[in-house]
Amino acid sequence: MIYLDQAATAAPRREVLEAMWPYLTGDFGNPSSHHGVGESAARGLADARSRVAAALGVRPSEVVFTSGGTEADNLAIKGIVLASSRGRHIVTTAIEHPAVLESCVYLERFHAAEVTILPVDSMGRVDPERFAAALRDDTALATVMYANNEVGTVQPVDELAAAARERGIPVHTDAVQAAGWLPLSLDLLGVDALSISGHKLGAPKGIGALAVRSRVALEPVIHGGGQERSRRSGTENVAGAVGLATALELAATPADVARTTALRDEFIARVIDTVPGAILTGHASERLPGHASFCFPGTSGESVLLGLEARGITCSSGSACAAGSDEPSTVLLAMGIPPEVAQTAVRFTFGPDITPDELARTAEELRLAVAAVRSLG
Ligand code: PLP
Repeated sequence: MIYLDQAATAAPRREVLEAMWPYLTGDFGNPSSHHGVGESAARGLADARSRVAAALGVRPSEVVFTSGGTEADNLAIKGIVLASSRGRHIVTTAIEHPAVLESCVYLERFHAAEVTILPVDSMGRVDPERFAAALRDDTALATVMYANNEVGTVQPVDELAAAARERGIPVHTDAVQAAGWLPLSLDLLGVDALSISGHKLGAPKGIGALAVRSRVALEPVIHGGGQERSRRSGTENVAGAVGLATALELAATPADVARTTALRDEFIARVIDTVPGAILTGHASERLPGHASFCFPGTSGESVLLGLEARGITCSSGSACAAGSDEPSTVLLAMGIPPEVAQTAVRFTFGPDITPDELARTAEELRLAVAAVRSLG
């Protein structure tokens, strides 16, 4: 099997699982317990927190471990807006993950928030001027994703964040897809809060983190025993935190990024050349290294996906989070792609260990799968 659905979940890395193992066995204690087993778990958690903080360029006290990207996004958006003294206005974009958009909708419905959803261009990019013009005196938060899960487009987060920072408006970025590929330093990006998720990086599902600057007030979303400095109650997933720290340290090197980007571009060119009518979605160059997404008019994305699976290639017909729904992707619609074309979307995502042969074989099988679907009419 050639696995090309890394943006849904990456395979857990051996080094990550090995680093986690002691905390699932001998050091299994509750980090809040005042005995030896608990204290060794607490030490493991503290060490993981320092390592995650180092990867994100923040202080350990500014890392909140969560159950994943969805929870990190919920905590950032609800937590910052509910604690804000500026007002209840939020600026976001039409191509955010549902974890962001639905958190905004919740605040609109139950907490009188007002949400400005910015459009994107045909490549999936937000216009910095439009972004700056949307900011208001009562804006409590601007949240713009770093890289899009469906089309791989990378936003100019630093430029957008600079405009918000000038007005003292906190900025959150969903870096779930960017993590492992792009620089994550909050200072470099100029953001106040950033979400990541372990299972996109080679750690298991069920662990993520929100890095949030201590200057930003944060109302907890989950209440209970006061763990994570009362910002996220619940017994900590110590092994998961250790796994997340290890996965972040194993992130792609600049050489991995360069190699994967070159392979991606070769793959995209091959697909465009060999599959009649293939359309690349997202930005041609400002995109994630291991991300290639297309529409194949005259097919259905789901049929192409099934055809490829029968040929030993696993990919996605859109975002896994929207799987099961027949609706065309709202991300593609926001980019101006007509619904009947949006329904033909297929996404290929891979890590730095992908080989040129695997991508060449995928392009050839894709050509055959698209032709087979079209011949059925
Ligand atoms: N944000 C983005 C951009 C994603 O791609 C995903 C998952 O696909 C999430 C958030 C949600 O992360 P998790 O699956 O860890 O809840």
